Amino acid sequence: MALADATLVLNRNWIPVNVTSVRHALVLMYQTIARAVDPTDYSTHSFWSWADRSILPGHSYVQTTTFRIRCPDIVVLSAYAQIPAQHVAFSRRNIYRRDNYTCQYCGEQPGVSKLSVDHVMPRSRGGPSTWENCVLACLTCNRRKGARTPREAGLQLRSRPRRPLWHPRLLVGMHQRKESWQHFLLRD
Ligand SMILES: [Zn+2]
Repeated sequence: MALADATLVLNRNWIPVNVTSVRHALVLMYQTIARAVDPTDYSTHSFWSWADRSILPGHSYVQTTTFRIRCPDIVVLSAYAQIPAQHVAFSRRNIYRRDNYTCQYCGEQPGVSKLSVDHVMPRSRGGPSTWENCVLACLTCNRRKGARTPREAGLQLRSRPRRPLWHPRLLVGMHQRKESWQHFLLRD
């Protein structure tokens, strides 16, 4: 059901602050509290300008009695009270979420039971347990790497690990995470 799909909510500084339903996002747009963000060029659109845009194959949309409107993946709030700064706790579970259940060396998604947390600089060589030094690795890559650095093992990280910028409230919707959100969830 498209109206129940997830929409990422950015504050006016384009920092992710929440995940809501498409239904609520459209209401926010209709009330001019939020504008839709086009994930291809990051242009923003009011409810009516968004409704005027064409719906391409593959886009999900909502059919009203008189028109169709594309489901916004992302909306940006026009104004918003301060969101208190909060850090995402460093934990195994949040590393799985940050890395989207994907091996950071080979890109496979073998399932939770076949993934493990790898210390990029091995613990035995003083590598700390931090956001910047821990990544998900599949068992195959983990075994291949052993107590070596990626370079020594001939492995390459797909991206530099870092602390996620999510507001903890975002975690609620993380299982519904969309490709178009990545830019906002992982940028520097
Ligand atoms: Zn792997």
